Amino acid sequence: MIQKKGIGVSPGVAISQVVVIDNEDFDIPERHVPVDHAQNELDRLDQAISFSKQEILDLQKRTVERIGKEAASIFDFHLGLLDDKVLYKKFKDTIHSGHVTAEYAVATVLRAYAREFLAMPQYLAERVKDVYDIEKKLLRNLTGQSRQSLAHLTRDVIVIAHDMTPSQTAGMDREHIKGIATDAGGATSHTAIIARALGIPAVVGLEDITTLATGGDTVIIDGVHGTVIVSPGDETRKQYEKLARQQVEFVHSLDALQELPAVTKDGHHITLLGNIEFPEEVHAVRNKGGEGVGLYRTEFLFLGSDTEPTEEDHYQAYREVIELCEDGPVIIRTLDLGADKYTQSRARTPERNPFLGCRSIRFCLQNLPLFRRQIRAILRASTDGDVHMLFPLVSNITELRQAKSLVRDVAEDLEEEGVPHRHDIPIGIMVEVPSTALQADAFAKEVDFFSIGTNDLVQYTLAVDRGNERVAPLFTAAHPAVLRLIREVIRTGQQQDVSVSLCGEIAGDPEYTMLLLGLGLRRFSCTPSAIPEVKKVIRSVTMQQSLEVARQVSRFDSDKEITSYLRAVVRKVLPELYNE
Ligand code: PEP
Ligand code: MG
Repeated sequence: MIQKKGIGVSPGVAISQVVVIDNEDFDIPERHVPVDHAQNELDRLDQAISFSKQEILDLQKRTVERIGKEAASIFDFHLGLLDDKVLYKKFKDTIHSGHVTAEYAVATVLRAYAREFLAMPQYLAERVKDVYDIEKKLLRNLTGQSRQSLAHLTRDVIVIAHDMTPSQTAGMDREHIKGIATDAGGATSHTAIIARALGIPAVVGLEDITTLATGGDTVIIDGVHGTVIVSPGDETRKQYEKLARQQVEFVHSLDALQELPAVTKDGHHITLLGNIEFPEEVHAVRNKGGEGVGLYRTEFLFLGSDTEPTEEDHYQAYREVIELCEDGPVIIRTLDLGADKYTQSRARTPERNPFLGCRSIRFCLQNLPLFRRQIRAILRASTDGDVHMLFPLVSNITELRQAKSLVRDVAEDLEEEGVPHRHDIPIGIMVEVPSTALQADAFAKEVDFFSIGTNDLVQYTLAVDRGNERVAPLFTAAHPAVLRLIREVIRTGQQQDVSVSLCGEIAGDPEYTMLLLGLGLRRFSCTPSAIPEVKKVIRSVTMQQSLEVARQVSRFDSDKEITSYLRAVVRKVLPELYNE
């Protein structure tokens, strides 16, 4: 039995057999398969070889057209390697004799081959790069196969991978994938957000879990405490089965809150909304007692495919959300593509520093036809319903002005075409970059609402990558600098009569609820499953108590003091949240 601690990012306990997905960029661990699976591994290898060959032939053809025949001849060596009978026999023998995966056979055989080249005269040693190239290509095709097979499972599994992209997580078979554990990732990475949205228990940031588990092992995932156990003993298994039952009971104990208003003990009404990625999540928002959608991450219409959604695809998705929300508000965020949320075609041409690159509103303003299509769909879908348009990652006022002018332009087109649409839609911005938070007073004059995105605001204020497990302990909204920005944005909103909501992950973290109330926040938008706990805190406290929490927090200089103070306060108010 092996026990590992990571970051629990999606609650729940899962116990199941595991499927491990390797990553071509890292060492492939020696992973065994049952004896009768060798043929399956060989078939996978054959498929990966033929796919790789086709890719190289296509590349060679394009190179001939662009640069000429001579340059394209470099690919002959690659093709020769893939056709090499001696190498193929080595792959085959390794799979058969070692009962290992095709990935492991490819990595070990080609590494040994590369070493032979290194010992050769200089002009041949250069070839080693080509061997690594082929290794990478074969591994990419092999791991791609296993990721794809996750979409068509016939039995329940827990997935273990080095990392997953948000589109991979979103495309998974929801019925059979019972849990996720990854080496990489942080609490607010989009993969974590999707796992929560799908209700799949998940633990990330485990560093080396892919080397500790082998396909077929039984694994336990505890998404609340961030624990993963490989090959548990009977006693441990029973203990976790009990914990799973307790967690389900606790969640059900909050069901009664669904119909009750989010109102403090002294009568202050708070608006609780849900964050969604897919239209069908509106059901969860309503079932959990949310009043509407405070953040619709529309980029998920786009992820996982190479085809851009048409105006009609956008329109149909928005209509569905608006209808399901009935009279509740719907805040549609325009495409927040880029950073870790990229389409397949952009994945092939990565930016050097994507979180500081051409993402979100920047990407849309550089791709106007795409942006216009989405704006048209939003304006058309909003003819009835309380719909708002939200621009992500605005970092400078010119971007806002350009986007607003585009909205006016699109509305004029629709008017001329006689297409029913809404021309006075409320427009807001995400406040998730320090420059925008610091300039909130100027922005307030030109927007109808602010939505504070603490996931990115923390990342950009503290210079901590939200998805990097190695700096995960530094990623916290309890940093006094972050709290100061949040306080100022809320205060500016109050002074200038601009409504402020907060839709980062802390909106759903009960440890932050009193602090945010005390800072003046009256609109929270969070993952649907978190709504009941936040409501429970709101209904258990007074505004006076919350103001005192905010006052006390402002006296601390370190995030550690703030975190332990907030935990102590909520433990006192709601001890049942900590029923461990
Ligand atoms: C945020 O940054 O806080 C936010 C809500 O947006 P996302 O998590 O989609 O980046
Ligand atoms: Mg963001």
